[in-house]
Amino acid sequence: MANIRIESIPIARRLDGSYINLTKIVVGEGEPKIFLGASIHGDELTPIASLWRLLEYLKVAEVSGSVTILMGMNPEGIAFGTRVDPYFKVDMNRAYPGDKDGILPRRITHTIFQIAKDSDVAVDLHTAGNCIPFILVDPVEGGLRSEVLKYAGSMGITILEEYLEKDYKAEHLSESLPPKLLELGIPSYTLELPGGLRIDWKGVNVGYKAIINLMVFLGMIDTSKVSIDEYPVIKELGYRRYDVKSSSAGILEPYVELGDYVEKFTPLGVIRNLSGVIEEWVKFDKSGYIVGLPNRSIVYPADRLFLMAVKD
Ligand SMILES: [Zn+2]
Repeated sequence: MANIRIESIPIARRLDGSYINLTKIVVGEGEPKIFLGASIHGDELTPIASLWRLLEYLKVAEVSGSVTILMGMNPEGIAFGTRVDPYFKVDMNRAYPGDKDGILPRRITHTIFQIAKDSDVAVDLHTAGNCIPFILVDPVEGGLRSEVLKYAGSMGITILEEYLEKDYKAEHLSESLPPKLLELGIPSYTLELPGGLRIDWKGVNVGYKAIINLMVFLGMIDTSKVSIDEYPVIKELGYRRYDVKSSSAGILEPYVELGDYVEKFTPLGVIRNLSGVIEEWVKFDKSGYIVGLPNRSIVYPADRLFLMAVKD
């Protein structure tokens, strides 16, 4: 039976004097040390339920080493259902390593960073809407990249490289948690699950099973690897994430499904105006797998419609 400790870490006070807390849960002791952080984006709830399942499993398991969980890293965002922190509207996944004397979201990311950096491998759990589950690997070279791929690969789901450098920079992704941990030499990556404000319960299972697989790989629990069959898995490495954007406004009818492989310039969908007249055939100039579909039918120019996995 693993020892489970739950701790509330006070970050700041609200107007009424009550505290905004981070919830930290530690299972087991010693090494190896896994860090799991859930829902820095407050409208991404699937990971929380994955971690509940993990805790249910671990509380009756023998665990060697320790798992540190931050359950809901944007507590006020979760309460308000917002991606950003509701007070300062900061995207906290662009606010690492944080600042202990800074505004609330930066105090939170500072605290997260201090906890996460005391780990042998760190996984930042998110959701990406109507998608297959996937891991995102930040730009990293050499031995550390091999370590990241080794741990990420043990989980049994699709692995994608981050955006090309220009888009990676434009999105300020180097200020998210995994690259800041990579700078310290700690293997770290992002796990994207399906869902968002609405929990995807198949995705919950995938997240739970992927973490179990990582723990099996690290020799932390005595069970065998579990297969992931809830969603398609791209087994081959070397794919990168690309967004396929719209040029027109209108109503989108997608022609593809999650996991489909499509040749370049194949119509992925069609955008019609209110009269039903076709404004745009949505196409992409690269072949690849459909990893994510739009959440909405109404689209505007430059909306991210499809997420694709493409080989460089
Ligand atoms: Zn996110």
